[in-house]
Amino acid sequence: MGAPDSFNSTATVGHFIAGRATSGAGAHVQAIYNPATGAVAREVALGERADVDNAVAAAHAAFPAWAQTSPLRRARVMFRFLELMNKHRDALAAMISAEHGKVFSDAQGEVTRGIEIVEFACGIPQLLKGDYTEQVGTGIDNWTMRQPLGVVAGVTPFNFPCMVPCWMYPVALATGNTFILKPSPLDPSPSLLMADLLRQAGLPDGVFNVVQGDRSAVEALLEHPDVKAVSFVGSTPVAHHIAQEAARHGKRVQALGGAKNHMVVMPDADIEQSIDALIGSAFGSAGERCMAISVAVLVGDAGKAIMPRLIERTRALKVGDGMSADAEMGPIVTAAARTRIADCIAAGVREGADLLVDGRSLQVPGYDGGFWMGGTLFDNVTPAMSIYREEVFGPVLCCVHVPDFAAALDLVNTHAYGNGTACFTRDGHIAREFARRVQAGMVGINVPIPVPMAWHGFGGWKASLFGDMHTYGEEGVRFYTKQKSVMQRWPESTPKGAEFAMPTSK
Ligand code: NAD
Repeated sequence: MGAPDSFNSTATVGHFIAGRATSGAGAHVQAIYNPATGAVAREVALGERADVDNAVAAAHAAFPAWAQTSPLRRARVMFRFLELMNKHRDALAAMISAEHGKVFSDAQGEVTRGIEIVEFACGIPQLLKGDYTEQVGTGIDNWTMRQPLGVVAGVTPFNFPCMVPCWMYPVALATGNTFILKPSPLDPSPSLLMADLLRQAGLPDGVFNVVQGDRSAVEALLEHPDVKAVSFVGSTPVAHHIAQEAARHGKRVQALGGAKNHMVVMPDADIEQSIDALIGSAFGSAGERCMAISVAVLVGDAGKAIMPRLIERTRALKVGDGMSADAEMGPIVTAAARTRIADCIAAGVREGADLLVDGRSLQVPGYDGGFWMGGTLFDNVTPAMSIYREEVFGPVLCCVHVPDFAAALDLVNTHAYGNGTACFTRDGHIAREFARRVQAGMVGINVPIPVPMAWHGFGGWKASLFGDMHTYGEEGVRFYTKQKSVMQRWPESTPKGAEFAMPTSK
């Protein structure tokens, strides 16, 4: 199978429940756009409480058998799924590019980073080993095991419709849970292809389900008593709301929010390398990445060398349809997002930042209706400005000048967000101090977008994450399992009688 039927026709993108595609109970749909042309490409069903109830019932019914399936057998399903994901990598990437707008090579990269989590999940039996202590008391042994939670849900954002779901479900499934994915309604098609590939890999019906939709579907998941945990990735206000609601309903929760990532450039940094890093990380995927660099912190003389080249390179960005071979940056995901970004730029101008390159009037010949926005560059931005404080989530880079390393570190550390950050320098001591002292969850030293590898886990600090565990890696395994401690004694044949004092090691 390549793309699902709904992708190649105008049919509605529906749900996937109990091993079958279904159009669901609700009558509401939402348009899905091709952001490069502005045309409606297809529509997506907006799931309602009845759809969520059906999906939870299917996942609940499938849980006991899947949890009892040995970790090795679950991993073998993951191995087959891995093969299928690799085979369909380009089909997934083309779907992402068509609905999200990002360039095809970037979409391929997204799928590859998702596949890496599937590779990690294939080895999860190793991480389900417990601890064992022999003879904690005379004749008594104590060990721990990790067991799955039950039905767990994932709510994901538009900007990585394949990779972010892959941060969640391969780990949740390999640890023995059953899963309900609620993708973004802006680019829902990859979720159905992944569901079908899991089915082809031999995953039993009901173990993985997809409910399309928006806020109402999420509320129904949060309120459902059989959903034991919620993983969320999206904007900070929604992440905060999800964390509170999930906790109120007694669920385990990890809610990853927005970002405002700073890249500090020290005066001794390799200037060409720093400019390449700023351009790629600020404007790749039109800045619609939670690890995009949106603030350049130029220390001392670094600004003098960097600014003229940064202006030139921002103006020279090749913006076009994500499927055209020479495009470096695609369109913005929706017209509404484009308007919101343009409003943020207008606020920056009003508040006194210097707008050096303005992407608002960009047009792409032959794509008149597309949601276009060129690379935008601000200089002399200050911490008081909204363009500095708030997440723009578009191709907008703000430059701030500071006198020294201490001021740069203070700037990063006092910002409300703390997802990722980077420091470009040739000084090992500065690099070490930055990594140790910076208040952010993911740090790059001469690496602009330090998205951790599958076995290290992903997550920010401060307003970028609510909950205490990062996604995937060992933190992901812990999130989707609960520890049980077993203490065992096989009494000798001569009974000792009842013991009333607290047992201690003898
Ligand atoms: P969003 O918060 O609008 O939506 C995320 C998900 O929540 C979607 O599935 C959406 O349907 C659902 N949703 C939206 N409003 C809701 C509500 N009121 N109640 C319940 N559910 C709701 O985010 P988005 O625009 O899809 O994605 C962009 C945002 O995600 C950015 O802020 C970006 O920084 C963030 N993001 C963060 C990370 C990270 O790892 N920290 C990764 C990717 C994206």
